[in-house]
Amino acid sequence: MKSRTCPNCGYKYSFGLHLRKHFFQNVFSNWNCKNCGALLTVDAKRRIILAIVGIAPAALIPYLASYFRGYYLAIEHAWMLAIFLVLTWAVFVFSFDRFKLVEPAKTTPGEEPQKS
Ligand SMILES: [Zn+2]
Repeated sequence: MKSRTCPNCGYKYSFGLHLRKHFFQNVFSNWNCKNCGALLTVDAKRRIILAIVGIAPAALIPYLASYFRGYYLAIEHAWMLAIFLVLTWAVFVFSFDRFKLVEPAKTTPGEEPQKS
């Protein structure tokens, strides 16, 4: 399955649309496909992996900042640049999100979602 693609109709969401639509709202909320209307959700397992990959470099910010200091940047600018790079990386990683169809059986209250 390709990233950012509707599993029902194959409609590929642009990066910008995906970002606007899914980055700033509840990550596990459902939505209807813009193209075919199928009820979709974000692949939670993949989202967790992406979150780890995306956030891990935040630990490197102090090292990046001191690295940029080597280029005679002011400390604030070095930190801003380091934070900017890590944020850019996180957004980039997020673009590899995958979508799944929401199956009615999985939304039954009190039932564990089945992993497929
Ligand atoms: Zn669709």
